[in-house]
Amino acid sequence: MFYLIFLLVGGEDFGGNFENRTMRLDFFHVGTASEEHFALDQIVNDGPWAGNPNHMLDTLNRGKYFFQVQKDGKSLYSRGFSSIYGEWETTDEATQQWGTFHESMRFPWPKGPVQVVLQKRDDHNQFQTVWTVAVDPAARNVNPKALEPIFPVIPLLKSGDPHQKVDLLVLGDGYTASEQAKFKQDAERMAGYLFDQEPYKSRKSDFNVWAIGTVSQESGVSHPHAGKFTRTDLSTQYSTFDSERYVLCRDNRRLRDVASAAPYEFLLILVNNQNYGGGGIFGAQATASVNNTYSDYLFVHEFGHHFADLGDEYYTSQVSYNLGPVTVEPWEPNLTALLDPNQLKWKDLVAEGTPLPTPWPKETFESHSMEVQKKRAEMRKNKVPEKEMEALFDGQREFETKLLGEGPHAGVVGAFEGAGYRGTGYYRPQADCIMFTRDKVGFCKVCQRAISQIIDQYSR
Ligand SMILES: [Zn+2]
Repeated sequence: MFYLIFLLVGGEDFGGNFENRTMRLDFFHVGTASEEHFALDQIVNDGPWAGNPNHMLDTLNRGKYFFQVQKDGKSLYSRGFSSIYGEWETTDEATQQWGTFHESMRFPWPKGPVQVVLQKRDDHNQFQTVWTVAVDPAARNVNPKALEPIFPVIPLLKSGDPHQKVDLLVLGDGYTASEQAKFKQDAERMAGYLFDQEPYKSRKSDFNVWAIGTVSQESGVSHPHAGKFTRTDLSTQYSTFDSERYVLCRDNRRLRDVASAAPYEFLLILVNNQNYGGGGIFGAQATASVNNTYSDYLFVHEFGHHFADLGDEYYTSQVSYNLGPVTVEPWEPNLTALLDPNQLKWKDLVAEGTPLPTPWPKETFESHSMEVQKKRAEMRKNKVPEKEMEALFDGQREFETKLLGEGPHAGVVGAFEGAGYRGTGYYRPQADCIMFTRDKVGFCKVCQRAISQIIDQYSR
C-alpha cells in the first residue's frame, strides 16, 4: 500500500480556485500535414496534485503548444508542452494520410467551471488559440473517482513535499514479472546518471523520484526494424515515424492511467532492451533503452528534451522531419537562428571578444560524422551485434571529444553554426554539449541554465 502525506498547500490563488488533486483532460489530436482537429475523450481524476502553487503560470515560453485554465477570461494555470502529433505533422506520412494521437492536459482540480484554452505556435512562433473546452467539475462528463493503483509505486528518492519538489516518475516497459527487481535496479541506475550531471547534481535535493514497474508477458519492447515484435503493458516501441532508434509510447491513455498512482510532473519510460534507442518530448514523455553501453548518455540527453525543451544540437544524423527555410527564431532555449547577433538570447553568457558566429572545425567534424553515419546505416541493415555498434560509437566519441575540445573557442559560449538538424542557419551555444554529441562533456552552460529554470518552476 502506498500512502502520501501532503503538507498544506500555500497560495491564495490555489486554495481559492483549486482542490489538491489532478484533473486530466484526455483528447484525440487528429489531422494531416495541413489540417488539425481536437476531440474530447474524457475528463478524469488523475490522482495527487504535485505542482508548485508558487508557479501556477508558465512564463518560460517553451513548447509547440500552450494551454491555459481560465476563469472569467483570467488565466489561473498554464503550461507549455509539445506532443508526438506536433512532430508527426511534419513527417512525409502526414502529407499522405490522417493520424490520430491520444494526449492529455493535466492541471489542478478546479472548484468551479473553467475554460481550458489550447494554443499552438503560428508561422512566427506566436501562440494562437486552436481549441477551447468548457469544463464544469460538477458535470456528468467529469469523473471524480480516482483509479486504484494498477501497479505499486516505489519511492526512489524522497526529498520532501511534492508541491515543493520536482517529481519524476520512472516507468518500466518490457519487464516480465520475474524482472521487477531488475527494473528497480535499472531505475536507480538511470536516475543516478541524471544526478551525476550539472545542474541536476547540485540540485538533487529539489527532486523526488518515484518508480512504477509494469508487468509484461515477454522481455523487451517491439523493435520492428530488427524484426522483434512483442506486446507489452505500455506498448512502447522503436521505429517511431519509421526511424529505427526512435522509441516512444503511443498508448497515452494506458500510460497516464498507470502513472496516476504517483505524484508526478515528468515521465521517463525505461525499455528493457539493448538496442540503442530513446526519445524525449517536452512535457509529454522521455524514453531510453537500459541495456546499452550508451544508456547513460541516452537517458540524460532524452530527458533534456522532455524536461527543459532542449533542442537537438546535432545535425548530421538522419531524421524524419521536413524542414523549411529559416525565417524565425526557434523557441528552444539552446538553438538560435542568429538573425540579429545583438539580440542573441544567451548573449549574457558570451565572453567578451568571442566572435558571433563562432569559428569551429566544422568541415573536419562533418566529413568524419558522415563517414560514421554511413557505416552505422550499413551495420543496422546487416543487423550486426549491438556490441559492434557500440565500438563504432566509442571511436566516434574519442575523435569528437578531441576535435571539439581543442581550439580557441572550445568550452566557451558563442554561436556555433550547425544545430537542430540543420547544417546551416541554426546555431548552438558551445562547440560541444550532451545535446550535440555522445561525448562525456555534460550540458553546455546555456542548456544548464534552461534546466535550472524548470527546476525552479517546480521547487522554488
Ligand atoms: Zn547545450
